[in-house]
Amino acid sequence: MTNLDCDVAIIGAGTAGLAAERRARADGATTLLVDDKFAGTTCATVGCMPSKLLIAAAHAAHTARSAAVFGVKVAEPEIDGTAVMARVRKERDVFAASTIETIEEIPADVRIRGRAHFINATTLMLDDGRQIKAKAIVIATGSHPNIPSMFAALGDRVLTNETIFDLPDLPRAVAVIGAGPLGLELAQALVRLGVDTQVFDQGKHLAGLHDDAVAAELHAILERELPIRLGVELDAKRVGDSVQLTWTGASNGQATFDYALVAVGRPPSVEGLRLDKTGLVLDRHGVPEFDSNTMRCGPSSIFMAGDADGDRAILHEASSEGAIAGRNAAAYPNVEEGKRSVPFSVMFTDPPLAVVGKPAAPDSVIGRASYADQGRAKIEARNAGLVRLYASHPDGKLTGAAMVGPGMEHIGHLITWAISRGETATSLLTLPFYHPTFEEGLKSALRAICAQVHAPLPRDSDEGSALGG
Ligand SMILES: Cc1cc2nc3c(=O)[nH]c(=O)nc-3n(C[C@H](O)[C@H](O)[C@H](O)COP(=O)(O)OP(=O)(O)OC[C@H]3O[C@@H](n4cnc5c(N)ncnc54)[C@H](O)[C@@H]3O)c2cc1C
Repeated sequence: MTNLDCDVAIIGAGTAGLAAERRARADGATTLLVDDKFAGTTCATVGCMPSKLLIAAAHAAHTARSAAVFGVKVAEPEIDGTAVMARVRKERDVFAASTIETIEEIPADVRIRGRAHFINATTLMLDDGRQIKAKAIVIATGSHPNIPSMFAALGDRVLTNETIFDLPDLPRAVAVIGAGPLGLELAQALVRLGVDTQVFDQGKHLAGLHDDAVAAELHAILERELPIRLGVELDAKRVGDSVQLTWTGASNGQATFDYALVAVGRPPSVEGLRLDKTGLVLDRHGVPEFDSNTMRCGPSSIFMAGDADGDRAILHEASSEGAIAGRNAAAYPNVEEGKRSVPFSVMFTDPPLAVVGKPAAPDSVIGRASYADQGRAKIEARNAGLVRLYASHPDGKLTGAAMVGPGMEHIGHLITWAISRGETATSLLTLPFYHPTFEEGLKSALRAICAQVHAPLPRDSDEGSALGG
């Protein structure tokens, strides 16, 4: 058995690992990319893409059902569950095939199939017994669904994001456990596709939101379509081919479902890596402490990237962290800080939620805009939502936002870009807002910030806000 050596070894061929390998090789390093499956990224196979495909089907059903308000009469849509799931899988497989093609463009001798663990800080052991000696190592092993033992005991009646998209048909009833973004996106999609769905969470925080006012608005909007039971203790039992769920606490009840969809977090996949052999300082979850600007773990030649580091578990961050880690691993020991972007996440519910930048601090100035009466939102009969923009005092510079409402996945980008460019409420108000758009709704929040910091409103812009323009 021949042992291997290289400049940079990367564990995990997901979005982060692929980015790290690509960057390290482009920078002239010899690389080895280890993955146990090479089956495509989490995003393409069981994450972003299949979940958005299911949401797209749900959107079609919802649009048909909502047409009557415009005087367009459509019969109650008939949902063909097997056709819905077949399209999800067909298109998902196209995305997965495309990531596999990218993987196959990597030279064959760089791709090593197998599971890796550390023997020491610069040596990996593969499950076939070979060893890899590397000057630097990138850990990009992703994350996996957490399934508490009570739910694991339900056997094939428990679903996660790794199994739900393979169901041949839509179920009759699903209990979604976990009111985070993943659970809420899938719960709303299922209920719109005619699945009797309820959401349960032992915590009281919807979608992990730090902004209570936006959380309350989101809760009120989503609860028009499905029950969301926060602050409940659950007891789950398998009864025949069903799941019997009993809940107590903030509310009490019992109901029977076909499945429990468990979406209670995705911890970093680091448990089999034998990180104890590396001498790294580990946190209480067993994840190495690392510098989020260089991605380097302490003073070592080991770097983290993607969901494996337990920070900002979203795709564009996995990709950016991979590029930083790959560059620094190739340049080791000449490690430089990478440019991290303003934190930005979107939950693809309807309406979507966007969270940008830093949470509000006690001395933040907050500008608020309701979408209950916003012009374009009323035109579209989608008039619900709340935007809260945070700014610093006394300059009115934007620092963060929590926003639920129509178009927020797009408006979230604008606010993220504005924060990245150091814009203030006044400077944004000097820019054009087309009429009638969802973006116009931001004006009242920006003006409220100007008023609180006593910043001037742009001299040549009118302050009127008539709904009809
Ligand atoms: C349902 C769902 C929906 C999502 N939706 C969105 C969204 O809309 N937008 C968004 O930005 N993000 C979304 N995300 C998050 C996004 O998918 C992840 O942040 C991203 O895919 C993480 O990429 P990664 O490279 O860290 O991990 P992965 O793509 O999981 O790659 C890790 C790889 O490491 C391999 N591996 C693990 N351990 C070992 C080992 N010991 N040896 C060898 N190989 C190993 C694994 O097999 C895997 O191939 C979603 C996630 C889920 C689950």
